[in-house]
Amino acid sequence: MMYDVIIIGGGPAAAASGVYAARKQLKTLVVTKAFGGQSIVSPLIHNWIGTPAISGEQLAKNLKAHLEEYKGEYLTIVEDAKIEKVIQNENKNFTVTSENGTSYETKTVLIASGANRRKLDVPGAQEFDQKGLTYCATCDGPLFSGMDVVVIGGGNAGFETAAQLLAYTKSVTLLDVGDTFKADAITVETVLKNENMKALHNAKTTAIVGDAMVTGVTYENSNTGEGHTIQATGVFVEIGMVPNTEMVSELVKVDDYNHITVDPRTQKTSMLGIWAAGDCTDGLYAQNNIAVGDAIKAIEDIYVHLHTTERSA
Ligand SMILES: Cc1cc2nc3c(=O)[nH]c(=O)nc-3n(C[C@H](O)[C@H](O)[C@H](O)COP(=O)(O)OP(=O)(O)OC[C@H]3O[C@@H](n4cnc5c(N)ncnc54)[C@H](O)[C@@H]3O)c2cc1C
Repeated sequence: MMYDVIIIGGGPAAAASGVYAARKQLKTLVVTKAFGGQSIVSPLIHNWIGTPAISGEQLAKNLKAHLEEYKGEYLTIVEDAKIEKVIQNENKNFTVTSENGTSYETKTVLIASGANRRKLDVPGAQEFDQKGLTYCATCDGPLFSGMDVVVIGGGNAGFETAAQLLAYTKSVTLLDVGDTFKADAITVETVLKNENMKALHNAKTTAIVGDAMVTGVTYENSNTGEGHTIQATGVFVEIGMVPNTEMVSELVKVDDYNHITVDPRTQKTSMLGIWAAGDCTDGLYAQNNIAVGDAIKAIEDIYVHLHTTERSA
């Protein structure tokens, strides 16, 4: 079986592109490790446009159900299959292989494999995940209105998160393990002007503490070894993302952090025949609605490619 397009992933980008591809009558395979995407763990999502509030779990179910509506002649769905490798064949088509050794042939590939937030690896981090500790300020920030919060990470994401939170929290303390902040100097300077903001260098987070919910963060001064505790009800972790791009990282151009470089007008990668959308790309902002929009752009472009390039070849 030769597919027109294989979509790798099961989050919002994959669901949207699967629906569009099937409606365009492209022979489509959606293959994913699991359905739902990163926000499946979110208790309540308030910015899925058209739905004022929905749990991450329900959103995941809705995405899957919408995709399954199109299962049949044009759309095949394979779940519980992690794709390990994509290779280009001599005839310019692609072979996509899962970790259990099953291979699929396709004319084009859309990578929608997303990313995982780099997790904080200290005692309490897992225990208090979604109990005061969060990896998404845009999603959860407003829940901490009027409270003292801590941001972990001194890159641009950390300082931008702090800037967002300063609009409604009582205070923000940013902890960075290095001796200088990695964020742009102008961002650091602007954010630090706020009197409710404090940022500490050489502050190595050692634990997240609490009872039912977070009550604070402990850290160690990496120069002196001295331990400290900060009282806080919210902890926002911004220590980077890990994109799921290993299966194509030798085939397409990736940035220093392994995000797939794309043309944002079309979602084309550096290799003809491969597109990418959502959090696995070098797009600047990571949100459900953005992943969906990017994925639809990609399918529109794949359709044009299949119906023009191929015919003229
Ligand atoms: C806790 C949390 C809360 C969030 N809340 C919000 C929110 O409220 N609003 C918002 O807009 N955004 C939110 N986000 C961000 C949002 O979830 C992401 O931007 C969005 O999920 C990106 O979608 P995606 O389809 O690109 O990738 P992902 O959602 O990361 O989905 C990737 C999919 O690919 C599959 N996959 C990965 N590797 C492979 C492989 N090798 N083979 C096969 N399948 C693979 C995974 O199983 C997964 O199904 C939140 C993120 C987090 C972490």
